[in-house]
Parts: sequence; C-alpha cells; structure tokens
Amino acid sequence: MWIVVTDLDGTLLNHSDYRWEAAREALETLKDRGIPVILCTSKTAAEVRILRRDMGNQHPYIVENGGGAYFPASSFGNLAADLPRRDQELRLDLGAPYHQLVTALHDAASETGCAVRGFADATDEQVAAWCGFGPDTARLARQREFDEPFLLESGDPAALEAAIRRRGFRTTQGGRFWHILGNNDKGAALRAVRRAYLACGVPVTVAALGDSPNDLPLLEQAEWPVWMPSPRLDKLRRMLPHARVAPAPGAAGWGAAVLQAIPVWLQGQASSPLQQFAF
Ligand SMILES: [Mg+2]
Repeated sequence: MWIVVTDLDGTLLNHSDYRWEAAREALETLKDRGIPVILCTSKTAAEVRILRRDMGNQHPYIVENGGGAYFPASSFGNLAADLPRRDQELRLDLGAPYHQLVTALHDAASETGCAVRGFADATDEQVAAWCGFGPDTARLARQREFDEPFLLESGDPAALEAAIRRRGFRTTQGGRFWHILGNNDKGAALRAVRRAYLACGVPVTVAALGDSPNDLPLLEQAEWPVWMPSPRLDKLRRMLPHARVAPAPGAAGWGAAVLQAIPVWLQGQASSPLQQFAF
C-alpha cells in the first residue's frame, strides 16, 4: 500500500500564509484511492491535531522532527500493548524530553558566547510574531515535548552545534528556526511508522515530500522522494539528486506533484485487496 508522508511548513502548507487548500483536490483524490497521508513536521501534536481535524485526516502523524509519532488506537490496536494511550491515540516516544533540551541549549549558548532565543524563552505573543500566526496558534506551538526551536541571534553556529553535540543532543535547521533535539529525526520516525503498518499486516511503499534539510532523512527513506521548490532547492538537490522536484512551491505545487504521481503509484493495483484496510 502506498502512503504519502509529508512535511507541513513550506511543503503541504504555503510558506507565507500556512494555507493548504490549494492541495484539496489532491488530498481528496488520495482519500478516494485509499492512500493515507501522514503529516510529518516540526510542529507539536497540539498544532497537528487542529490541522488533521480541518483536513479530515485520521491517519498516524509524526511531530517535533520525529520526536514522537501518534497512532489512532482504532486502526493500530496491535500496538496498544506496547504504547501509552491518551484518549483515542497511542504515542510512540522517539526523542529526548523537552526540559533537557532547553537546559542543554542555554548551557551550550553560554559556553560558546552565542545569543539564542527559544520558544521556552518567549511569550505566546513573541512566538506569534516570529512565525506570523495568531496567539492561539502560538500557544499550541509552545506545547512542546521533544524539540526546541530557536533563533540564533549572534555567534558562531558551528561552535554552538559542537557544544550541543558534546551534551548528547543535535541540531537541525528548518525553514525558519534552528532546532535542538535528541537522537531522533524524521527518517527514524518513518521507519517506526513502517513497522507499525507492518505489525498490522500492511507493508507500505512511501512517497515523501519536504523542503528543508530536516526533511532529508525522511526523503532518503522514501521510495518516491519529492523536493519542494524553495531558495534551498539547489543545495537539497545536491544532497539527494534522485528526488523529484514539485512543479511549484507550497500547497499548489504539492497538489500538482501528487496528482501527477497517483496514476503511476496505482498502476497494476487498481483492484488491490489492500484497499479494504481501514487506515
Ligand atoms: Mg518545511
């Protein structure tokens, strides 16, 4: 069974206004064809739940750069014995606890003379201004479990990264922010999602879409990787030359890339018995 695993900001969501509606036709087509869409993002679970509700998406999702993966208990009951349950969801922890990351970031910054400002140091209003969204969304964005986004206001990024590595953590760069995180990434989270489907008897083939260096581990794991156009595209193409490139940035480009691909994915499996599964 094909699944689509997608970054959000700058990929399924437009970089500037965070809208996804230009991809609606593609999302509806995927739903009609029984192809799950797995949201895979640096956003928090609290933020992703709102988007999933708006999109009518009931599939697993990956949060905070692969720090955690959530599975609907109704479809993934096989995992229930191994994973903690919250309401109707099962949560797989892959990352480091948030308070450890915040402490390590500040220790590393003071050691290297870098000026950093993370979400933990900011108010909802400041985070809203940085990201260009409203204070309610900022409040959801600050409900962090596995990843601290931060601005590096001054100092040597290489020195800061080295000091963070010495503390047992690592950094990655998204579209707007640096992030400090544990030994997790989107690629490892995708492997966990593959295992979860397999545990339910469904081997998956993966199309993955992203626009940033933190999407590289995800696209590397995918059978059908797609880069979104962005100012970083040349650099990303050098990192993974065999990936396809969407015809336009943001939601419209996402939709076009997916609509072009669906007939290829479904060649020869139009009446696949796998589509009867309720994922
Ligand atoms: Mg992105």
